[in-house]
Amino acid sequence: MTPHGMRLLILDDDAEVVKFISHVAETFGFETRAATLPSEMFSILAEWKPTHLAIDLIMPDMDGVEVLRELADKSVQAAIIVTSGMGIKVLEAARQSGIRRGLNIVGVLPKPFSVQALRELLDGGKKGTLQAPTIRPAAHIVSCSKPDFLEALEAGQFVLYYQPKIDLALGNIVGFEALVRWDHPVYGLIFPDTFIRAAEECGVMTPLTYRCFDIGLQWLASIEHGSPLTISMNISAVNFIDLDLVDRLHWSCLRSKIDPSRVTLELTETSAVDNTAAAFDVMSRLRIKGFTIGIDDFGTGYSTMMQLMRLPFSEIKIDRTFVGTMHENQESMTIVDSTIELGQRLGLTTVAEGVETAMQMRTLRKLRCDVAQGYYIARPMIEHQAKRFLAEWSPRQMGPMIWTEHG
Ligand code: C2E
Ligand code: CA
Ligand code: CA
Repeated sequence: MTPHGMRLLILDDDAEVVKFISHVAETFGFETRAATLPSEMFSILAEWKPTHLAIDLIMPDMDGVEVLRELADKSVQAAIIVTSGMGIKVLEAARQSGIRRGLNIVGVLPKPFSVQALRELLDGGKKGTLQAPTIRPAAHIVSCSKPDFLEALEAGQFVLYYQPKIDLALGNIVGFEALVRWDHPVYGLIFPDTFIRAAEECGVMTPLTYRCFDIGLQWLASIEHGSPLTISMNISAVNFIDLDLVDRLHWSCLRSKIDPSRVTLELTETSAVDNTAAAFDVMSRLRIKGFTIGIDDFGTGYSTMMQLMRLPFSEIKIDRTFVGTMHENQESMTIVDSTIELGQRLGLTTVAEGVETAMQMRTLRKLRCDVAQGYYIARPMIEHQAKRFLAEWSPRQMGPMIWTEHG
């Protein structure tokens, strides 16, 4: 997790781009070197052995796809970020082919790119696909070992923030998504993108998931509200190998007297499809206990509808990358539009995440998306703030909010 020894080699013929990427990577603790020609890149590669590569797809005398092929032939294991001004589809195709050849492609970055999008990719690869450029406090780099995590669990340093989900037709709050943060005594508040992967790798996702569940359900149980609210909890792929997961989550519900039908488990498209056998098993058992299952970050993976349809989920969450760019990018709009239509046809609840503007709210409502979540409605909040938000929220706020631009 620490950036020591991180070396990034950039292949790009645009000096400005090289400068930009180097600058961001250096502030992030990387050593950087750059090449403008593939031949130069391959010689630096052999001698310097970078841990990360940023490859521009469009180069004058050799295209990036050929470069990727050659990297695969050399069995290069560095984490690769593919960049291009060619649009998302081209990048996705290149990523697919790179992965099939066994390369460790951690992400693609359409140009022009934001500092945050680049940082998220550099920070270890994360989930590996299009990450929405989010504005957050600078990611702290902490060295996370198993004892660190266990100590933090013991000390109650993991806290949940809650972000409301709004019914787009009626304007009422239907529930909250619980998002974990590490309230670190030295580093302050650490965001999950910085530590979830480390937690998965050092084998502490099971106790962390159980802890989040207990906190989230107890919070939900403490809320007095007219209609029963739901809570969405994130689970990661490594949770599937835990045979006790289903019973333990069910027990948590019994203990806090929350019916499992009020709990949605969000798992990412990739984690569900890449682990079909285990995922299918766990998901069916969760459904039998009455939990709801949602597919998170929909559209960022490469699963086919056929693969997805075999899995028993009932909610589909359109990734914030597409929601955030749907008014600037026709491809994103098409993805949002067709996902909503597909969800309706299949009888799934459609949720749009990352809603940041009134215009996005209006469009989603027009497209008959069921539920919206995002900074435009509220940021994730600590328990008492979330409760206050709920108490003060009126569906009438929805009217002006979505019909005027700055309401
Ligand atoms: P996610 O499940 O896709 O969660 C949504 C993320 O988008 C959250 O980031 C949230 O703060 C952010 N967000 C919400 N509204 C907006 C918006 O309008 N615009 C933008 N740009 N971003 C918005 P956060 O809390 O940092 O969580 C990041 C990821 O960490 C989550 O992505 C989820 O995959 C993972 N995660 C969070 N909590 C848990 C957990 O308890 N367990 C597991 N396994 N993963 C978790
Ligand atoms: Ca989620
Ligand atoms: Ca998501």
